[in-house]
Amino acid sequence: MNSNLSNQDRGYKIVKNKSKTSSGHFFGGTTWTLPESKICKESMHQILTLNVSEAALMKLENRIAEIPLFSCLNCSLFWDNQHFKVDFINKSATILQQDQEEIEQQDEEDRIVNPLPLISVALREASSRDNQTDDDTIDRLFSELGTDYIGRAFGKPIIAQDALDLTCISCGGEMQFIAQITGDNDMESIFNEDVDFFFGETMLYFSLCPCCDVLKVEPQAI
Ligand SMILES: [Zn+2]
Ligand SMILES: [Zn+2]
Repeated sequence: MNSNLSNQDRGYKIVKNKSKTSSGHFFGGTTWTLPESKICKESMHQILTLNVSEAALMKLENRIAEIPLFSCLNCSLFWDNQHFKVDFINKSATILQQDQEEIEQQDEEDRIVNPLPLISVALREASSRDNQTDDDTIDRLFSELGTDYIGRAFGKPIIAQDALDLTCISCGGEMQFIAQITGDNDMESIFNEDVDFFFGETMLYFSLCPCCDVLKVEPQAI
């Protein structure tokens, strides 16, 4: 058991919520006003929304009740780092900086439905076995990601390539890792839902600066 882990070190797998009681966490939906993708000219995908109001999931200020994780998955915007300013009171976000240079759109037949269907998800605490960092464990975790669950939240990220750059572009402080979501998904096996959510062999890492309310999306190839 990880009894000596603080809450901030605990990692959770993002799985389908099989309970009838809502967890407050959900995949998809349109409960936030998100920026428009400058390439697709439509609102970005609200991918995952994490309820951080009750559980001592993170040491966040009380004004942060939920954290939306989003990006446009139908164009080249998610190929590079993106930074957004989040307004937790009005449930909206604006673009601060997008580093991508290429302008490409997904082919029509590969486009991911927008908005994504709303599916209740739950956070299942990762076992100590799933918090190891040896090569065999990392290989196993990457094979489970996208097959057994769509991503991990809180705790330490499972790194595909390089350490994350967690420097906030606004204050220079260290951002907090929030979650990672894989683009190499089989929604049929994870959610038992007929949703096409494959957006490439890419891992999106989401981090937040709780001082500036800057949300960063950092992609890595897997
Ligand atoms: Zn787009
Ligand atoms: Zn900051």
